[in-house]
Amino acid sequence: MRILWFCICILFCIPTVNAREGIDSGPESAFTKLVPAEEVENQARGQYYQLLMDAKSHRALAGVENPLFIRVNTISKRLIPFAASWNSRAREWRWEVNVIGSNTVNAFCMPGGKVAVYSGLIQQLKVTDDELAMVLGHEMTHAVREHAREQMGKGFVTNGAARLGGLVVAGVLGVDPRVTDMVARGGSQLLLLKFSREDETQADLIGMEIAARAGYDPRAAISLWQKMSSLNSNAPNPWMSTHPANQTRIRDLEKNLNSVMPLYQRALKNREY
Ligand SMILES: [Zn+2]
Repeated sequence: MRILWFCICILFCIPTVNAREGIDSGPESAFTKLVPAEEVENQARGQYYQLLMDAKSHRALAGVENPLFIRVNTISKRLIPFAASWNSRAREWRWEVNVIGSNTVNAFCMPGGKVAVYSGLIQQLKVTDDELAMVLGHEMTHAVREHAREQMGKGFVTNGAARLGGLVVAGVLGVDPRVTDMVARGGSQLLLLKFSREDETQADLIGMEIAARAGYDPRAAISLWQKMSSLNSNAPNPWMSTHPANQTRIRDLEKNLNSVMPLYQRALKNREY
């Protein structure tokens, strides 16, 4: 009888252990839940459109026929379904991908799926499509894993709301007006947010997985960061200041390559048919 139970347990346990291929994403931060997702996404949308309007007024917003716009959108279109699979809200997002003409090295994806890539990143790093897919996968991961929302939740707690203990969570469920105020203040800095090292690692690894599933070579994540670390340029580089290209980062990516290579190979095989 014991042996029978042992066999049943093994049968049920094995698929659970191997249920998900690819990267082990780790748990979602408890801070994320402190701020309503809608508030964060609304703030992001407002700031994104403001940025696009500013770019347009300086004739720096790439039009739909611009080769860089086409290139970035073609890659993003392949990544988005895999990115959205990490977050049920993201499947309903109105994803938008724009290119801003600037020698600045920068890229971001704001909450709600609002993506911008600065032409400086593409041109100064001379990125291949695979490397560009790694940048986009990384940024999309920040959005679908709600890292900005998490940072805001942390800000809410450190701004004194922690004193209220359980009331904080209760208040958020009914959308406490203080939360809305806090999001409004924190939201104005959405573009300048610096994520934690853990969030950066998560964005690197999940981003690499998203790109691999979409058929982009995950080894490009390593060459991308090698290029970043040897980039010798006087151009403004906000991406470098929030994303240090250090050896730990490259080592972590190398360590996880074996988990995502089969996904890439499968994607390539499926594309042949
Ligand atoms: Zn990042």
